[in-house]
Amino acid sequence: MTKIEPQPRIMDIKLYQGGASAIPGLSNVVKLSSNENPAGPSSAAKEAITRSIHEMHRYPSTDHASLRNAIAEVHGLESERIICGVGSDEVITFLCQAYAGPDTEVIYTEHGFAMYKISALAAGADPVEVPERDRVVDVDAILAACTDKTRLVFIANPANPTGTMISGAEAKRLAEGLPEKCLLVLDGAYAEYVEDYDGGAALIDSHSNIVMTRTFSKIYGLGGLRVGWGYATQDVIDVLNRVRGPFNLSNAALAGAEAAVRDQSYVDKCRADNTRMRDWMAGALAALGVPSDTSTANFILARFADQAEAEACEDYLRSQGLLVRKVAGYKLPNGLRITIGDEPSCRQVVHAIGQFKEKRA
Ligand SMILES: *Cc1c(COP(=O)(O)O)cnc(C)c1O
Repeated sequence: MTKIEPQPRIMDIKLYQGGASAIPGLSNVVKLSSNENPAGPSSAAKEAITRSIHEMHRYPSTDHASLRNAIAEVHGLESERIICGVGSDEVITFLCQAYAGPDTEVIYTEHGFAMYKISALAAGADPVEVPERDRVVDVDAILAACTDKTRLVFIANPANPTGTMISGAEAKRLAEGLPEKCLLVLDGAYAEYVEDYDGGAALIDSHSNIVMTRTFSKIYGLGGLRVGWGYATQDVIDVLNRVRGPFNLSNAALAGAEAAVRDQSYVDKCRADNTRMRDWMAGALAALGVPSDTSTANFILARFADQAEAEACEDYLRSQGLLVRKVAGYKLPNGLRITIGDEPSCRQVVHAIGQFKEKRA
């Protein structure tokens, strides 16, 4: 018998389920389960990471000034108001640690990203899940769920795993309707996939209760490097920097991310490729009787008749060496989330879903 116990809420955390990455017995698997960039990072980023090995005996920068300056230049932001983390996941963790805790509430939505609940529980806060409307974030439902204990509201825009978005006007209405002590976190993990979208950065200038998070894991193709960042008022960033470890980002991470953000022509190319293949795949699946909401991200949430059909299709795709993501854990039992891969992968997955549908007809 032990008296050693973790803090309240810790054991309520369900372990994060990542996208599958292997199929036993198969070597050339097509992985469309984790929203990774099929083209990987830009060569400028890879070269910078390679060069960084020569400095690996040195501790990395603690203030990330060089990376923050690059992000600020590229996005037209203030460098001092940027914080960098080990993925945007770490920025989400900082937010919960600094602003939530026992006897406070953290809101996220019905189909929202799993890390919001995990980070809220880790901080000892009470997670509050709010319904969406037809797989779209519902601003009125969020506002109705707010109490004097609410400290954080998390939404991803575009959202994962639905791929849907709310408008800038809706995000503004949400920020303006929140209680005084509450921050709105706009998770922009997929913002770069949307043409002419700033992830909500401009809204922060007029609304001091908004925090934007961004990542190098998606369009930049650097999920394995673990770099993300946040943008907010100076006050909020000063708070978050107090819970950030001084050496949270390695030399390789800092160098790779800086080179990546400076290579915007690569980002433009990846965005265009994604849009072209996403539009093609959504149309081709619809023609096979598999509808999806209009996606603004690098994946499609394909909808099947029911959970049994979605699971049978996932099984069949797996037998063909194709990995997609089941999303029953996100309260979408009849859905499969399919990352937009390169053109051959997209054609392969559509072809296989066509075969699956034909066999069941
Ligand atoms: C992938 C993803 C992230 C990114 O996480 P990192 O820690 O930056 O790799 C954040 N939010 C959402 C909604 C995501 O899908």
